[in-house]
Amino acid sequence: MGVINFLKSEYQKYSVRRSLNRALSNGEIKVFYQPKIEAGSTRVVGAEALVRWQKPDGSFIYPDMFIPALEENGSIVELDFFVYEQVFKTLQDRVRAGKPIVPVSMNVSRAHLEDGRIYSYVKELFKKYHVLPQFTEFELTESMYVQNIDKIVSVVKEFREKGGRISMDDFGSGYSSLNLLTDLPIDTLKVDKVFLKNEHLDENEKTILSCVIEMAKKLHMDVVCEGVETEEQSRFLSLLGCDMFQGFLYARPLPQEEYHTYLEAHLETEINEVHFGFNGDLKDDTGTYEGLVLGDNITFCDGPAKGMWGLHFGGGEPMHDSVELPVALLKNDSFSINLWIKEEYARLWTGAYYVGYENGFCSIMPRGWDMKLNFRIKDSGDHDGWYDVGNQMITSGEWVMVTACYNSADHVSSVYINGERTGLMNDVFNLVSPRNIMLGGDIYAKGFEGCVSDLSIFDQALSFEAVRKMYVKVREKQKENPEWQHRSSWGEKLVNKRIPLETFYFSLDGTLKEGTKELEMIFQGEQLEYEEGPWEGSQGVKLKGGDIGENTLIVPKLPEQMSGYTVSYWIKDDNPRPWVSSFYVSAEHGFMAEIPMTADGKSMYRLKDNRRETEWRDTIWESAMERGSWHHVVLIYQKNLRMIAHYVDGKPNGIKDDCFDIGEIRQMVFGGDIFTKSFEGAIADIHIFNQPLEIDEAMERTARG
Ligand code: C2E
Ligand code: CA
Ligand code: CA
Repeated sequence: MGVINFLKSEYQKYSVRRSLNRALSNGEIKVFYQPKIEAGSTRVVGAEALVRWQKPDGSFIYPDMFIPALEENGSIVELDFFVYEQVFKTLQDRVRAGKPIVPVSMNVSRAHLEDGRIYSYVKELFKKYHVLPQFTEFELTESMYVQNIDKIVSVVKEFREKGGRISMDDFGSGYSSLNLLTDLPIDTLKVDKVFLKNEHLDENEKTILSCVIEMAKKLHMDVVCEGVETEEQSRFLSLLGCDMFQGFLYARPLPQEEYHTYLEAHLETEINEVHFGFNGDLKDDTGTYEGLVLGDNITFCDGPAKGMWGLHFGGGEPMHDSVELPVALLKNDSFSINLWIKEEYARLWTGAYYVGYENGFCSIMPRGWDMKLNFRIKDSGDHDGWYDVGNQMITSGEWVMVTACYNSADHVSSVYINGERTGLMNDVFNLVSPRNIMLGGDIYAKGFEGCVSDLSIFDQALSFEAVRKMYVKVREKQKENPEWQHRSSWGEKLVNKRIPLETFYFSLDGTLKEGTKELEMIFQGEQLEYEEGPWEGSQGVKLKGGDIGENTLIVPKLPEQMSGYTVSYWIKDDNPRPWVSSFYVSAEHGFMAEIPMTADGKSMYRLKDNRRETEWRDTIWESAMERGSWHHVVLIYQKNLRMIAHYVDGKPNGIKDDCFDIGEIRQMVFGGDIFTKSFEGAIADIHIFNQPLEIDEAMERTARG
């Protein structure tokens, strides 16, 4: 550093210090608060006090601009004392005014170690403002411990014995002596934001974060992750067991007034409820959410008491004859579901309510073990990860109130029948990132047969009291009109209101043109030839094979609105080679491919999420194709349910659920993919539909000729 620069920077430091004194007395120094949010909910469980310097012209100077200079000569101590006093005073004011508070953490600069006054200063503050120690927390950094371990430990111990909390700030950013964590009394580990530099976490970052969190948990510390800016980060971290988040995704550091408004809007007591009355439509009471009918055997019915309504389910195949609800209504990892059911036909392991998540599912099954009502949470990553509660039988043909709760903070699940708790379980796996909600059925078993009424979905686990009250309310209603007879069905059958069906049809009978639209298949090859098709009088395109992408047919554009798809086509494989695709769909971050022959000779339909290197989703059952003969292939993609289904010559060749969301579909190619050599044989009669059809309908719509 040159002399001039040195003098300049010294001068700047000097001027910062001088203006700080002025700023402190002029009220330019403000304390902002950044909320800490409980993982898996939107509840505020604490806040960090962060200093802001507001110039008379209204502009802000951020701590990084002036704290280093103040640290150098020790005057940071005065600033911190100012901040602490503001925090204590504000806490006291709110307690006196009967307003809610949550613990506030304050930063401790390294300079306090030299200074030493902090111990008596903080003691004075407790005396002066009568704040309970459990509402205060001090954030120390690793480097402080390294330098002065003995001196600190005794003070920290005394503070903690009174109920105060200590956190280790910026863990992972600088020094990281893991020894320290065992030697020191620490309540909370604050994981530095360096780990969350990118919107998407890469594998190494994920590994480090999961180890850090696991370690902290084993040492019985709470974990706060700082700098959480995206949903993806939040989901991943809550899956790892992080307890709290501090980051822009939830709230920036806020001026005092705004912080208090935020706090009051995000307190523990707030429980959001989405309620469906089913009085002639599938909307919730506010009209924000609307269910979608799958299948065709659902009607409205009357509920358990006069003035209540419900849905009657006919009980069909998996995924059919059920109602899909929008996942957006699930806001938290914690939840409660309350509904009334009247079972007409007892069937084992049928789901009345089901939610599929990124990492598993939960379901309310009226008949589980020993025919008893079962509330199940399943960890899909663990073969034995079943968490089942409930050990009471319900009566068929009678209205019964069922409540299932899960609390992500303490990992407890519980289930109630008619307001009485019939099961409770600890250490239950935390489900994150819901993908689909189904009422009246699930994706595994035949649907529920009977009625469902008065469905409420809450974003918290309900208390025993709250559950009982809900039950009593309906019981009172029943008593008001004891003679009332309900109808088990009314109105027309509900119809599936999907987006309008759009079809692209390429017969390939000597032309690449689509039937009615101004579209033409793009042939990626030298010489286009046709040959005899699958039935008399039909033709197909000859596919000569070749290198990657050679001699393929590219679909020129896709339907505008797609809720999944159904694709039907005929192929003849003249030269079966393993892993050659006959059909390939590329999506935003993944692909789907029909592979007539895999290494073991079987035919497969595959979905791959490019972000998951080691996982595939395959339908594979048997070897279905024969060399040199025509076969009819139907591929169905249920986007909402993340499911693919594969049919060859009208016979099922496997269904795969738990397929990942691979984003928007970009392109479809026949006769090859982007990885291996192209398909050799012929292709004919391609139908593309913009939605998943049921197989019978698909067969009907694509019948030859
Ligand atoms: P810190 O203790 O690690 O505080 C967290 C910092 O992360 C804050 O910066 C906060 O605004 C920022 N932050 C929070 N969420 C996000 C996010 O999602 N993304 C990003 N990119 N940043 C986020 P801020 O307020 O500028 O403070 C910077 C540092 O200055 C603090 O880091 C702390 O070391 C120090 N500091 C702030 N106030 C005080 C104080 O009163 N006393 C002392 N001694 N140091 C303070
Ligand atoms: Ca801090
Ligand atoms: Ca920090």
